[in-house]
Amino acid sequence: MNVGLIDVDGHSNFPNLPLMKLSAWHKKRGDTVRWYNPICDSFPRPPFDRVYMSKVFTFTPDFPYYINAKEVIKGGTGYSYPDGGKPLDPEIEHIYPDYSLYGITDTAYGFLTRGCPRNCDFCIVGKKEGLKSRKVADLSEFWNGQKNIMLCDPNLIACPDWKDLIQQLIKSKAKVNINQGIDIRIMTEEKAKMIKRLRVDSVHFA
Ligand code: SF4
Repeated sequence: MNVGLIDVDGHSNFPNLPLMKLSAWHKKRGDTVRWYNPICDSFPRPPFDRVYMSKVFTFTPDFPYYINAKEVIKGGTGYSYPDGGKPLDPEIEHIYPDYSLYGITDTAYGFLTRGCPRNCDFCIVGKKEGLKSRKVADLSEFWNGQKNIMLCDPNLIACPDWKDLIQQLIKSKAKVNINQGIDIRIMTEEKAKMIKRLRVDSVHFA
């Protein structure tokens, strides 16, 4: 298959994790995967077999150009607020991401947990992922020795497996950025001691 990808939010600031996973899965199958280019790829070029469009943010305008493809699949919270639409199949969700799509070599991106019990009014996590923080992956699922880890978990220390997961992060010796912050309301001395052993520039509390 010839597969095209569109990062509707624009791919300059933060890589789109679902697209990196879709890319890895298709490449593993032997498919050709590349970014869709609205100028070079439009008619009369042969159509792509499939184009994936991923949109994270509701405020991002949709992709405005014609898509020359036999099939177009749209996904993400930006299209299906607040539930995010159909989730990726487990074998795609749990694949090692294709970081080469964004030319990323020194940082791993991913989630060890999903869900959050706080249900803050302005936040979609509870509606999309549930009101319980649960482990969804081990670190090795998306980290393979990179110097940096960008962790996107909504509420890591609310997860019953927090200790095991933080231990995995400590063991990696990578610099960790917990980009959604730590929940100060459930901090304990034990958790603080574990977090102190992480390689972090700073920890912020949400
Ligand atoms: S604590 Fe953070 S992740 Fe949890 S509901 Fe509130 S804003 Fe969302």
